[in-house]
Amino acid sequence: MAKKRENAELARLTKESKKRLLADLKHGGWLKTPRVIKAFEAVPRELFVRAENAKEAYWDVPLPIGFGQTISQPLTVAFMTELLKPQAGQKILEIGTGSGYQAAILSKVVGPKGKVITLEIVPQLVEFAIANLQKAGIKNVEVHHSDGSQGWPDDAPYDRIIATAAAPEIPRPLKEQLKVGGVLVVPVGTYLQKMMRVTRRGPDQFEIEDHGEFRFVPLRGRHGF
Ligand code: SAH
Repeated sequence: MAKKRENAELARLTKESKKRLLADLKHGGWLKTPRVIKAFEAVPRELFVRAENAKEAYWDVPLPIGFGQTISQPLTVAFMTELLKPQAGQKILEIGTGSGYQAAILSKVVGPKGKVITLEIVPQLVEFAIANLQKAGIKNVEVHHSDGSQGWPDDAPYDRIIATAAAPEIPRPLKEQLKVGGVLVVPVGTYLQKMMRVTRRGPDQFEIEDHGEFRFVPLRGRHGF
């Protein structure tokens, strides 16, 4: 009985804190596009954090997911998703699956005709993300255990590529696996990172914009640290 009451209280808190977080992200101008806002409403972030952090699922903070990694802060997920300009029906590659939350948000934006392929280097996190995505009923995300700094040539080229770990420089394979007209978002730098948006304007033409400073865990692997 006490457990039942506890669960009901948690559900009420979760609903309230989610409403408040989304309102704050909209008022702050971090969430802008209707499709992205709908995705944030649709994905239950509480299913992508560890059970002991359930109460904090809608706090605007990164949370530990084990193995020295974190689920990114909601504000950062909102900012990167908006910067990426994802559209319905697109094929998107993500580097750094972690909890699977960012992939889940993108899966809602691309919808059933689109697809998200996400790469994770820590095998236990691959399992964690697959379980979380399944609990959330998300089907159009493919998780692979792989060094994402080399991209995923099998399904290239991509409409969009997003890296959620910091690279020492823009990884060449990711630029090469982008469609012409495609967009890559990647934090670049050693201590603090600059959020870079790369738009492929032609086979050898890349437009690069700097969108401010953030902090990320480092990208490992061949084109990482
Ligand atoms: N997008 C995640 C947050 C990821 S944190 C989420 O929504 O929860 C960054 C992740 O990148 C970590 O899980 C880390 O293990 C992973 N990572 C680091 N280097 C990597 C590499 N070379 N290839 C794939 N994943 C990598």
